Amino acid sequence: MSAASMDVIVSLCKRRGFVFQSSEIYGGTGSCWDYGPLGVELRNNIKRIWWRDFVQQRNDMVGLDASILMHPTVWKASGHVDNFTDPMVDCRECKRRFRADQAGTMDWTHYCPATKGNKFTIKGGERCPHCGARRTLCPECGKGELTAPRQFNLMFKTFMGPVEEDAAVTYLRPETAQGIFVNFDNVLQATRRKLPFGIAQIGKAFRNEITPGNFIFRSREFEQMEIEYFVNPHDRVDGRPADEAWHDRWIADCQSWFTRYGLDHANVKLHEHLGDELAHYSKRTVDLLYRFPMGWNELMGIANRTDFDLKQHAKFSGKSLTWFDEERKEHVVPFVIEPSAGVDRALLAFLLDAYREEEVRGDKRVVLRFHPELAPIKIAVLPLLKKRPEIVAAGHDLRHRLTRRWLTLYDDTAAIGRLYRRQDEVGTPYCVTVDVKTVGDPEKGEAGDGKVTIRERDTMQQIRVPIAELEHVFGRLLDAGTPWSEVAAGYPRAEG
Ligand code: ATP
Repeated sequence: MSAASMDVIVSLCKRRGFVFQSSEIYGGTGSCWDYGPLGVELRNNIKRIWWRDFVQQRNDMVGLDASILMHPTVWKASGHVDNFTDPMVDCRECKRRFRADQAGTMDWTHYCPATKGNKFTIKGGERCPHCGARRTLCPECGKGELTAPRQFNLMFKTFMGPVEEDAAVTYLRPETAQGIFVNFDNVLQATRRKLPFGIAQIGKAFRNEITPGNFIFRSREFEQMEIEYFVNPHDRVDGRPADEAWHDRWIADCQSWFTRYGLDHANVKLHEHLGDELAHYSKRTVDLLYRFPMGWNELMGIANRTDFDLKQHAKFSGKSLTWFDEERKEHVVPFVIEPSAGVDRALLAFLLDAYREEEVRGDKRVVLRFHPELAPIKIAVLPLLKKRPEIVAAGHDLRHRLTRRWLTLYDDTAAIGRLYRRQDEVGTPYCVTVDVKTVGDPEKGEAGDGKVTIRERDTMQQIRVPIAELEHVFGRLLDAGTPWSEVAAGYPRAEG
């Protein structure tokens, strides 16, 4: 498991400007989050590499950006108006509301009769060690009875236009997928694609979750990265029905994407939906789980949604949503494989997995070992002596040059040791220091050597590199992905 507890990550996120609670000065909402200066970079990096790897670099994928507000019939056709519900229960005493399926797994408050009514907090699902009772009352206050479960629709209702009447009711989308299905034919006509092909979209989704929580894991406003991959169910791939073979390929691709960018294999596993868990439209669904501090939980889902959505939209809209199979001379409704990931859950998992506390020469060092592609800041330029104007000027000049290709920050607000620690804590892979040797010392008649020190985050090794070669060196490290050890072998080591 990751070394980090949720509290440690929440506090780091706030302190260093990754994530803030929404509307904090008004007491916060508890269910929405704002991404700060570093958070927005990390988030954009996740979305950028996902889009690059799954859309731009593949010949069988295109992108889409559909609107959040859609025709209300979309949500009738998709089944969300009738089925997108969670059973909820209310406490008759404290009036708190829970998801019926979560009340049993939460830690619960117990006033134990065997210990004169002393108050205990007992782990979810476990019995009281003193009286042996199981939870029956409200898990939060420990006093009130819970109501029978009632269905609660998770969609946010709103009104389109100036009149608040039933005819104007619409919803904030609870998933991005439906924007893809309703545009299936538009994309097909515009791009002349043949099956199999996929449409991807990244965008906000909204769910009025009954019990949001665990930081950004479950919020009411979040972002999804979704793909609908359309296949011909009559085709065979690897000797199997095409939808089944493509489903397995997407499961493998998604899992290896997350581990390629840093998640430890031991912290990721697959979960097969069985029995009741399988949605009515799904032939098979597999979740990718991550070992979050609160336990194994869904990072993303990969579902075989069959032809359910296209058929539903064809039925409700009266438009044909088919693809013409030239070989078989027939119209087919494609089957759909849907890899659906949450940006916020991905960000949380990457943060947790990257977090390390290390001991360096007797001091604690906190470091985020982000994959360089994810790191919010790629390079920090740090002057060794800010009293020397030539050093400061050279530092600013370097930042200006490097930031055109890699986000580079200049910082001279502390001593070098502290500056390194600050960059380690936010996962900056490389620091460049400018010192007296770089610029020389005219008073002593010493000319500068035009070289700077590059320090690598994980090994803390330092090498001395001519300024003229910096773009080339960082091109190898940050663009070509050449390992540090290989690049560092070509330059003299600098003193740590
Ligand atoms: P859960 O069972 O955790 O509620 P789900 O199965 O309803 O999730 P999907 O509808 O499959 O989720 O949505 C796809 C992805 O969107 C999820 O795997 C998750 O990464 C993300 N996601 C869904 N709901 C939320 C939420 N409330 N907050 C943050 N991310 C979410």
